[in-house]
Amino acid sequence: AVKNKMSLTKKVLIGMGIGIFTGFLIRTIFADVAFVQDYIVNGLFYVGGKIFIATLKMLVVPLIFVSLVCGTSSLKDMSTLGRLGGKTLSFYMVTTAIAISLAILMANIFEPGVGIDLAQATTFASKEAPSLGDVIINMFPTNPISSMAEGNTLQIIVFAILFGVAVSSSGSAGERIAATFFDLNKVIMKLVVMLMNIAPYGVFFLMAKLFSEIGLDAIFNLINYFLVLSATLILHALITYSTFLKVFTGLSPVKFFKKMETAITFAFSTASSNATIPVTLETATKYLGVNNKVASFTVPLGATINMDGTAIMQGVATVFIAQAFNIDLTLSDYAAVIMTATLASVGTAGVPGVGLIMLAMVLNQVGLPVEGIAMIIGVDRLLDMIRTAVNITGDSVVTCIVAKSEGEMDVDVFNDPNAGRNEE
Ligand code: ASP
Repeated sequence: AVKNKMSLTKKVLIGMGIGIFTGFLIRTIFADVAFVQDYIVNGLFYVGGKIFIATLKMLVVPLIFVSLVCGTSSLKDMSTLGRLGGKTLSFYMVTTAIAISLAILMANIFEPGVGIDLAQATTFASKEAPSLGDVIINMFPTNPISSMAEGNTLQIIVFAILFGVAVSSSGSAGERIAATFFDLNKVIMKLVVMLMNIAPYGVFFLMAKLFSEIGLDAIFNLINYFLVLSATLILHALITYSTFLKVFTGLSPVKFFKKMETAITFAFSTASSNATIPVTLETATKYLGVNNKVASFTVPLGATINMDGTAIMQGVATVFIAQAFNIDLTLSDYAAVIMTATLASVGTAGVPGVGLIMLAMVLNQVGLPVEGIAMIIGVDRLLDMIRTAVNITGDSVVTCIVAKSEGEMDVDVFNDPNAGRNEE
């Protein structure tokens, strides 16, 4: 039905715009006013933003578990599961490898690190990267309740899949459990919609607080790095994703991006793929027309292991640091960067700022000074927001591709600009 009610996306965008503006205003006019700082920035904005993030995160664990049990228990047979997993992982890997290659290419063309003043580089405590073996072992929970308590997404995914498979092969008992899970899923998705409605305020609080504090001088000092990186992120989102979507599904990239607006705004303002899972899942199932069977698997998995934006940052940052320290990278170094950054982005948790910490793994691999990270840490927050938006867009493209190829996509919903809107 056509109504005068403004769409949620518009409201969220407006909340974001007013938030950014308010932040700048406070930064330029009220920076030294204690009252404003204590009660507004560190009072109202801080509390409001934290509560908003908490409401999103609160949904993540129950949502992943319940929707994935529903998804898995309704698969026809086990071979479907294997095929789905294989396709999803392949597309996640390939898009990430393209992302990082593009990043290396762009950084070599525009050379953002040449002639940089190294005086800013101080020390940076690097972390040991876990081995691939450990990563795989860690996917298997010893105690599913503690996996949930810790919010360990991969472990929850593994448990939910096994549980769902058992449900589907448990006869009438399984059917009763499945029916309960489908009801639960409905209720949780309702909760997602309810909480998404407070997003315009939440996004306002987050942006107003961030922009009243963020140091933009740091960006001016590293303007070349900032521009090359954000340009690469945008290029990858627009060109690579549009091409993939068009080639593998024949669907319209323009419609896709329109439908992604809400999820992209959430990812941008929270800088967390993980906290955005409820919105990405809602977008995939209600707006893009992807069957929950596919989306309940690809979305949480993607939010955990598929991070094209993060890989792009690691690629540009590595070349940038090499240029700043006057170190030449060989062809085999670049190959190593592509390999490690792909793995590092897999290992990066979908929470703010982790991508930068995982960068240490890539730098170590090619023998670059880890202190280089200290140079770019000051501008990372804003870039983290952009790359998180790219991360979840990549998850959604692959979700559409896999769903379409499995015949689990309702193209009419995808093409209907109002699909899902009436529930807001
Ligand atoms: N913040 C990013 C995400 O949640 C991860 C990162 O690159 O730091 O997707």
